[in-house]
Amino acid sequence: MARKLAQSTLEKYRTRLEEERQRLTELIDEAAQALEQARQTEASAERSPDPGNAEAGSMKFEYEKELSMQQNAIDLLHKVEHALERIESGEYGVCESCGQDIPTARLDVLPYATFCVNCASRR
Ligand SMILES: [Zn+2]
Repeated sequence: MARKLAQSTLEKYRTRLEEERQRLTELIDEAAQALEQARQTEASAERSPDPGNAEAGSMKFEYEKELSMQQNAIDLLHKVEHALERIESGEYGVCESCGQDIPTARLDVLPYATFCVNCASRR
């Protein structure tokens, strides 16, 4: 049951999703570089251990923050790519679980949503 969204509406969401994909890809690249840098800093800190070093603790915190940010961005990127696939297959805007139309008000806020509010809250 393909949804009848106007082509112009579909193109609007496609553009937003492609922009989001671009933004996330850059974010993930930047995080990967920051993580690599943190790893190298940590490796050099291990060569000259300083147990009283408070900076090492905050570095570890920064590293974990960066890592979880990167993980969130990767998860979101998968959703964005999945939504783009659904535009291609003509299934965009239809809930993957119950088959109901997802209101455009929801798609305006979350263009990568592939579940209606009810199904999303049950997952
Ligand atoms: Zn649903």
